[in-house]
Amino acid sequence: MAKWSNLTERQPIATKMLKQMLLRNRVAHAYLIQGDEGTGKKEIGYLIAKSLFCQQVRDGEPCDQCIECNRIESGNHPDVHWIQPDGASIKIDQIAQLQKEFTYKGMESNQKVYLIYHADLMTANAANRLLKFLEEPSQKTTAILMTENSQAILDTIKSRCQTIMLKPLSPTYVQSILEEEGISPENARLFSVIMPNLQQARELDQDEWFAQARSLVVQLIGTLQSNPDETLLFIQKQWIDHFSDRDKLNFSLDLLIYWFKDLVYLNLDQDDQVVFQSYLKELEQARWHWSQADIVETLALILEAKKQLMQNGHPTLVMEKLVLQMQR
Ligand SMILES: [Zn+2]
Repeated sequence: MAKWSNLTERQPIATKMLKQMLLRNRVAHAYLIQGDEGTGKKEIGYLIAKSLFCQQVRDGEPCDQCIECNRIESGNHPDVHWIQPDGASIKIDQIAQLQKEFTYKGMESNQKVYLIYHADLMTANAANRLLKFLEEPSQKTTAILMTENSQAILDTIKSRCQTIMLKPLSPTYVQSILEEEGISPENARLFSVIMPNLQQARELDQDEWFAQARSLVVQLIGTLQSNPDETLLFIQKQWIDHFSDRDKLNFSLDLLIYWFKDLVYLNLDQDDQVVFQSYLKELEQARWHWSQADIVETLALILEAKKQLMQNGHPTLVMEKLVLQMQR
């Protein structure tokens, strides 16, 4: 069962803020908790609810033993209502039902809490219904909306909530979770540094596209080293085909950055930091080809290419320019 103290490391700021609000009895009418999968949204939801109802809070921690805590944990508390998507979305009926239940007086106290998980998946009708509900807050009702994508939440709803932005997961944490799930240590490490987002990482790991992407990076480096004249052709024939839009090309540049960072780590004898673990042989060859100064310069060029991409530079042209510069 979640404890505030267990969340402190992952979410130091949110934990501190919420604990203080609870301690001072200054709980908002509505919270919007935004954070990627695994950042602790549900745990925080449970903890707020338990902290509000628990009969023996100690040092700010709900006891997890009293009847209130137990009923919240098992989802059977009459004044704590969870809403999750029914299929692909949260429907207006679910919000209407909530409203109906909450219009009756508190069954046992006046305190009521409702928690909406994946709040961004409310249909337009459901969101508008909720908005009306939020507009007439009763004294002791607390709404907790949770989402991985607060951009998809109506501004009018957001403006009625106190937003709590959770910290992204640390790469080390993401890596350990992914490895526990059976993803290879090499991929787990790569995903954790490129995009510390569990769901995206799992999807990429299952995607043949990603395996090919990694191998193309190694091929590009090989071509630059042994057949530089063919690099442009390689970009036009294979690279642009695979990294076929701006986002994908941007991802390919991230992979290149990690390749060159790996060379730096090897030069520093920090082999355990290397991301492209299954290409150690190729990395060793590359080490002889790129001096430390080359590596620094190349990293700057790749970052510049990323910048141009973001500023709407034409993807193929940006990439061609980059490899021409890298040949020198
Ligand atoms: Zn308790």
